[in-house]
Amino acid sequence: MSTADPTPPEVRGIPEMPAQVVQHLAKPNDPIVGKVIETRICSPSNKAAAFVRHISIDVSGTVLENGWIAGQSFGVIAPGVTDKGKGHKLRLCSISAPTKGEDGNGSIISTTTKRVLDEHWDTHELFTGVCSNYLCDLKVGDEVLLTGPAGKRFVLPADPYKHDFLFIATGTGIAPFRSMLIDLIALGMPCKATLIMGAPYATDLLYHEDMLAWEKQHAGFTYRTAISRHLVEDQRRRMYVQDRLEEDADDLMPMLNADRTLVYICGIAGMELGIFKTLARTLSTDQLAQYLTLDPAIASDLDSWERRMIPRAIKPTKRIFLEVY
Ligand SMILES: Cc1cc2nc3c(=O)[nH]c(=O)nc-3n(C[C@H](O)[C@H](O)[C@H](O)COP(=O)(O)OP(=O)(O)OC[C@H]3O[C@@H](n4cnc5c(N)ncnc54)[C@H](O)[C@@H]3O)c2cc1C
Repeated sequence: MSTADPTPPEVRGIPEMPAQVVQHLAKPNDPIVGKVIETRICSPSNKAAAFVRHISIDVSGTVLENGWIAGQSFGVIAPGVTDKGKGHKLRLCSISAPTKGEDGNGSIISTTTKRVLDEHWDTHELFTGVCSNYLCDLKVGDEVLLTGPAGKRFVLPADPYKHDFLFIATGTGIAPFRSMLIDLIALGMPCKATLIMGAPYATDLLYHEDMLAWEKQHAGFTYRTAISRHLVEDQRRRMYVQDRLEEDADDLMPMLNADRTLVYICGIAGMELGIFKTLARTLSTDQLAQYLTLDPAIASDLDSWERRMIPRAIKPTKRIFLEVY
């Protein structure tokens, strides 16, 4: 397989990324033991359709202390065994704490966990995801096995001053953006950052009050929501995140057309296709090439685009950062 850089040379505003992003300080065969210090629902009301918790864990005295940067993830090893008698594999959790930790000293890491709850596809019995429910059940004082950090590309560039940021999140995809935003705020918000947060219902907007407050406090930060399953005030129609891009085109298109802007996408797998289609519909050919390199055979036939065409026929350039799960 070729390792050559496929980014076309005419792509402008390519970010310089941190020279070295440290990973895997705590490995699955030697996890660290953290202690839960806080666990709270992080949706704005107790009427949310999903159960999502902000969980903070003390990692002081371990290799994870001061051991991550905003945008990375950590691993959690749930206790117990699978139905085949093997220990559970680790599950990745995006870090929602800033690089300096919830405490400012790099000792408190956090994440944003959604309980996986469903009917079992085959048996119709209640299906409860192993690790998400384990994490959400933890009480203050409980110990938890962690690995990581993991991830080296989904981070801020080495010099955030040189860029503006369009963050697009659905659900718990907001976790790394909370982390990055707190880092940018600590730097005095040296750039423009816009967060588009998508949720099915307004009751599911995570960290909503914080985002509203930060928008008021920091001139460079803009917060936009996209509610997909009901009509809310300030929203003329039901919307997915890509619809918000079009709806707020007057503000967002100049941002996308600028050479400084980087686009970060995090959340539900599949969300990227709708966003890429909207970019293809709304940007000029030259501007689109700054974000996507398209196979000429499909370039003008948006109806034929499918997720499996990413990243070969629909290839994000280095100005796009993608983490979907
Ligand atoms: C980089 C990265 C970052 C992530 N960050 C976060 C985060 O910040 N917050 C977060 O909440 N999650 C995050 N995740 C997802 C997380 O890692 C787990 O996948 C998720 O929490 C579910 O794990 P679980 O153990 O609870 O579920 P599992 O026990 O692993 O169950 C989920 C699996 O069960 C199967 N399944 C699902 N529904 C059904 C059903 N109805 N019937 C039968 N089988 C079913 C599917 O195969 C599915 O993959 C992230 C993932 C990645 C890769």
